[in-house]
Amino acid sequence: MKFQLLPSTFDENGCASARQHFACFVIDDCVSIDAGSLAMASDAMQRKQIRDVVLTHAHLDHIAGLPLFVDDLFASLSEPIRVHATAEVVEVLERDVFNWDVYPRFSELKNNVGAVLEYRPFEVGEEFSIKHLSFKSIGVNHKVPSVGFVVSDRKITIAFSGDTAEMNGFWDVVNNENKLDALLIECAFPNELNNIACDSHHLTPKTLQSEIAKLQHDTCPIYVINMKPMYREEIVRQINELKIENLQILEVGRIYNW
Ligand SMILES: [Zn+2]
Repeated sequence: MKFQLLPSTFDENGCASARQHFACFVIDDCVSIDAGSLAMASDAMQRKQIRDVVLTHAHLDHIAGLPLFVDDLFASLSEPIRVHATAEVVEVLERDVFNWDVYPRFSELKNNVGAVLEYRPFEVGEEFSIKHLSFKSIGVNHKVPSVGFVVSDRKITIAFSGDTAEMNGFWDVVNNENKLDALLIECAFPNELNNIACDSHHLTPKTLQSEIAKLQHDTCPIYVINMKPMYREEIVRQINELKIENLQILEVGRIYNW
C-alpha cells in the first residue's frame, strides 16, 4: 500500500514545508482520504487517477481542495468525482460550499460526458469498498460529526483516526483486527493548550499517550498526523519526550510503502 500525505504550505525557499494547514492523504495514487490540499498538491498521476475522495468530516482544512479539484478537472472528467461521506457531511457541503455563492453546485452540472460530482453517502459503522480498498467507518469524538477508518487492501491494514479527542469505539474496532500495519492518529495541540484541545475535541501529546495505551497491537508503527502548524515544533518536542518507541511523526510528502 502506497500512502502519502500531500503538502499544503511552503517554507522560506518556496519548497514544501512540514507545517500542515490542510489534511489530504492519498492511497495508491487513486483514492484520497480528505481533500484539504488535493487540488494544490496532487501530482499529474494523482490528478489523472483520483476519482474517489473519502471524507472524515467537513471542516475546512479537510475539504478546501475539493471544490478546486472538481473545477480543475471539470472538462476532462470521463467519470464523476465520487465523494464518500456521511449524510451530515454531504449536507454541509451542499448547503455551505457547493451552494452557488461559495462555489458552483457541481452535483447539478455536467460536462460533455456526464456528471462531474456524485455523493456516495455511508453510515457511521458501515463497511464499503472503493477500487481494491475496503473501508470500515468508525465514529470518533470531534466537535462535528466525524469518522475514522480502518482501510485494507487485503494485505495491509491501516487505521486512521481523523480529527478526534478521546475515543472508545474506535479502539474496539481497531483492536478487533487480526493485524494492523500502521496507525495514524491526530495530535493537534501542545499540552499547554489542553483547554482549547478539550473545547475543540482534539488530542495533545498527553491525551495521545493515554489513547495509544488503548491500542492492543503492541508493535504496530504509530504515525502522528493533523498537528496545528503554528504549534508543530512544540508538539513534536512533547511527543519525542514521551519516548514511545513505535511512535513517529508522519512526514509530509514522503511516500510510504506499507
Ligand atoms: Zn476538524
